[in-house]
Amino acid sequence: MKKLFSIKARASCEGKHVSGAERIVPEEKIFQTLEWIQNKLKGKNFDSLNIKINLIKEKPLIVKKALPIIDMKFKDYEEANKKAVEILHAQTGLKKEKLMEIIRLLHKGSSPEGENMRGAMIINQKGERVEKDHFRGVRTTDVDFTERELIAEKLTEKGFTQRTVDALAIATKNMVHPQITAEYCISDEPDYLTGYVATKDGYHRLTPLKRKGNSKGGRIYFVKDDTDLDELYRFLEKKPVLINDAD
Ligand code: AMP
Repeated sequence: MKKLFSIKARASCEGKHVSGAERIVPEEKIFQTLEWIQNKLKGKNFDSLNIKINLIKEKPLIVKKALPIIDMKFKDYEEANKKAVEILHAQTGLKKEKLMEIIRLLHKGSSPEGENMRGAMIINQKGERVEKDHFRGVRTTDVDFTERELIAEKLTEKGFTQRTVDALAIATKNMVHPQITAEYCISDEPDYLTGYVATKDGYHRLTPLKRKGNSKGGRIYFVKDDTDLDELYRFLEKKPVLINDAD
């Protein structure tokens, strides 16, 4: 097997997250990827930059194709959230009012202090929050496209953003897990209003999914009640996943 490396970069300012990048690349692409990270950070103000490069020891799981993107536009974020709730209701069986309540929490800041979490909330079929730490949540890492540049080109040609490329990789990894039924995501960037709902069938890209100017964002992972949380955390945070293609 070809040697693969995980590269994780995180820039912050006064302890606050500024920009991050996570890639899985073969040895010969390490320095090219560092340049890509340098470009990503251009013009960004940070006082700390952490870059970790580690050999991947576990055999990656290969996913043939990313989730298909279903792009939808709405007149306002309320309409888009209605659609999001419909999709989530069909996948999770949770009552629409309950779903709205959980989504509202994300739009207000879902950490115990009403701030953004670093990772995702986890909600079971009873509508309970089950992530181990309500500040941190769970983070989906160690996922990338085998040929990221090609996929990014393909998706940007279709009018999608780099953010969509990153988010599509995360959502695709999440949906591989049998106990995760759906995901809801809005960015914490105040002017990036596009969000998504991922299901086993697709990546529903919804614009606008949040109110303009709102600096709160986050992710919700919906899981089955019999989920083994330790196994779920291990899969999401440790299992390397490579996606071969996207439509
Ligand atoms: P972003 O997609 O980077 O705009 O992130 C939006 C929100 O999703 C963040 O505020 C976090 O709460 C959460 N988040 C970001 N990255 C991850 C990740 N890798 N896994 C789980 N949740 C994440």
